[in-house]
Amino acid sequence: MISKQDIIKRFVGYVTVDTESDPESTTTPSTAKQWDLANALVEELKAIGMQDVTIDDKAYIMATLPSNIDHEVPTIGFISHFDTTPDFTGKDVKPQIIDSYDGKDIVLNEAENIVLSPDYFEDLIQYKGQTLITTDGTTLLGADDKAGITEIISAMEYLIQNPEIKHGKIRVGFTPDEEIGRGAHHFDVEKFGADWAYTMDGSQIGELEYENFNAAGAVVKVKGKIVHPGYAKGKMINSMYIATEFINSLPRMETPEHTEGYEGFFHLYSISGEVEETVLQYIIRDHDREHFEARKEMMQKLTNELNTQYGREVISIEIKDQYFNMKEKVEPVMHIVDIAEEAMKQLDIKPLIKAIRGGTDGSQLSYMGLPCPNIFAGGHNFHGRYEYVPVESMIKATEVICKIAELTALKK
Ligand SMILES: [Zn+2]
Repeated sequence: MISKQDIIKRFVGYVTVDTESDPESTTTPSTAKQWDLANALVEELKAIGMQDVTIDDKAYIMATLPSNIDHEVPTIGFISHFDTTPDFTGKDVKPQIIDSYDGKDIVLNEAENIVLSPDYFEDLIQYKGQTLITTDGTTLLGADDKAGITEIISAMEYLIQNPEIKHGKIRVGFTPDEEIGRGAHHFDVEKFGADWAYTMDGSQIGELEYENFNAAGAVVKVKGKIVHPGYAKGKMINSMYIATEFINSLPRMETPEHTEGYEGFFHLYSISGEVEETVLQYIIRDHDREHFEARKEMMQKLTNELNTQYGREVISIEIKDQYFNMKEKVEPVMHIVDIAEEAMKQLDIKPLIKAIRGGTDGSQLSYMGLPCPNIFAGGHNFHGRYEYVPVESMIKATEVICKIAELTALKK
């Protein structure tokens, strides 16, 4: 059995090391402090008996658990990230352990009256009776994704200590800077050498994801003409009014606040404007590739129409693709999802297969040649003070990793 105390000890050890990443930085890792945990993880991987433990000059960690069977089976990988989001402080994390949670409000911080309440976070109820790890209300927890690291290392240790469980070669990868969108950027897929992998970076128990958004960003620039307002008739062009026309011409209900499930959107997230120039910044999201392309075309067409209408180039648009739906790369190898689903079922976990309304490192990795669905790591309320993780979910995730290894070894 995987010990609860070992999981807690390991997890607490990781989250008390500050590894916040920084989008303003141009280095990798983006913050020097990520080395602190990275170097410790390397030592730990060696200590538990992993082979070929490497860390490169950008702090990407890889390690191998050799096969313990004599026939060829696919090499699989498990990946997580050790940085935490810059959205909320991850310095001086003081985890609180709530044994046999009673289903009531959890006072995170008495002095500041910060309460984690099931009235607001309904997911809490399902963990009644379990052991929760929470923050003290002043920082995030860092279960995203130190829960994933805890689970992967614990699973490897378990497999090493229980050689009667038969498995093929397993690769482990830990990355910096996932939270600033760069976790996959310097990931050496060839060196990793796995046939497929899983990111252990999902949220609640049972989550299994292999679909995510197609994503692009658009910057719209509108040029106006400033003239003294008293003498502007027929001369002034107010860029803000033209920008408003652009905004209002896009479907108003296809925005984040009106969409869910597989519905895509245009999201206007910034406007800055004066008479002379207005800049609009959008993100475009859609699971369906054709719809995604149609959204980008719609914006381009609208831009052209406004230019025609004004008889000069008043508006320009620059659209850049950001990432794509991994479904395109995973569907041809659907057995990698099936194995994970089967592993969960054998462990009495109800698989929650749903499309991510966002992206994961796995989506980039899938397009780099490493198909990579995402599995739950157990945490909730990521990126803030209400983040928590049930220890039982971390144990289950650890068991899922072992079970996937076992099932893969049974495959021809
Ligand atoms: Zn994460």
